[in-house]
Amino acid sequence: MLRAEKNLRFYPESGSQQCLYLYLVKWVTMPSPDAAANVMLSLACGDALGRPVEFQSADAIADRHGTVTEMLGHGTHGQPAGTVTDDTDLALCIARSLAERETFDGQDVAERFHGWYEDGPFDIGLMTADALREFGRGTSWRDAGRNVWQHRQEGSNAGNGSVMRCPPYAIAFADDSETLIRVSKQSSAITHYDSRCTYGCAILNETIAGYLRGENTPLATALDYIGGDAPDELVEALRVVPDLVDSDQLNTTGYVVHTLQTALYDALTAESIEEAIVTAVNRGGDTDTVGAVTGAVAGARFGDESLPDRWLDVLEYRDDLELLAKALATTAIEA
Ligand SMILES: [Mg+2]
Repeated sequence: MLRAEKNLRFYPESGSQQCLYLYLVKWVTMPSPDAAANVMLSLACGDALGRPVEFQSADAIADRHGTVTEMLGHGTHGQPAGTVTDDTDLALCIARSLAERETFDGQDVAERFHGWYEDGPFDIGLMTADALREFGRGTSWRDAGRNVWQHRQEGSNAGNGSVMRCPPYAIAFADDSETLIRVSKQSSAITHYDSRCTYGCAILNETIAGYLRGENTPLATALDYIGGDAPDELVEALRVVPDLVDSDQLNTTGYVVHTLQTALYDALTAESIEEAIVTAVNRGGDTDTVGAVTGAVAGARFGDESLPDRWLDVLEYRDDLELLAKALATTAIEA
C-alpha cells in the first residue's frame, strides 16, 4: 500500500481508474516482507557461520569440527558466536542508505562505506580498502573503484567484495529490473569496477529479485536478460548452474566468478536455507562470503521458510536486518 500511495505523488493528474491500476500493479509485485527479511537474515547467517572458519580448507574444517552447523565463537578473527563481518556490515550500509534516502545515492553509500572503513573493521578486502582510501582522498564515488582497478593485475582485480553486499538492492528494486541492473553495477563500481564484478552483482540481484517475484528459474532468466552484455567467463560459469556442475570441482576462492558459481549452485540445489548455508560454509576457503551469497539467494528462494532459532538467537544485528529488509520491501524507493 505504501508503494502505491507514494507513486501517486508522481501522477498528480491521474484519474481514479489509473490510480487503481497503479495500486494493483504495485500490490502484486511487492516482495513479501518475510521473504525480504529472509534475504538479509540468511546473508548474515551465512557470514556469521562461515566467519570462524574463514581461510580454512574443507579438510581442516572436517578434522576440527566434523560439520559446522552451529554458530561458533573464536576461530578466525576471534569473535563471539553470531558475529558478522564486512559482508553484512556493508550490506547494512546499503540497506540503511536506501531506507533513509529512499533512492540509490552513490555518494551516500560511499560515505557510509568510508565511515565504516575509518572505524577499523577486523575484516576488509584489499580492493575495498584501496578504493575507500581513494574516496577518502577526495576522488568521486564514480571514479574511486576504477582508479584502483586500473592499477591492479589480472588475478587480483575481480574479487567478491561487491557481490557479498549487494542483495539489499534486489529487495528495493525487485519489481524494476532496469533500475536494479543499473544500480547494482554502479554500486559495485564504487570499489569493484571490473565487469565481472559489476555484472556479477546485476545477475545475482536479478536472480534474488526473480525469486522474490515468485519465478521458478530466475538465474536462467537473468542470464538470458543480461548475459549478452556480460563477460563471457562469468556467463559461461553460471550457465552450467546447477545441472552441469560437478559439485566436487567447485572453487571457494575470493574470485567473484568462483564465489557466484559455488554460491548459486549450493543455493539452487539445497532443500532448505539451512542446508544451503551449511553446505557452502563447509566447503572451506572464503567461507563467510560464499556463505553470505549462498544465504541471500536461498533466503529468497525459500522465502516462506524460517531460519533456525539457534542461529537467529545469537545473530548480530538480527533486529536491524529484519526491520530494514521489511522497510525496503514496503517503501517506495525511487529509481
Ligand atoms: Mg567477510
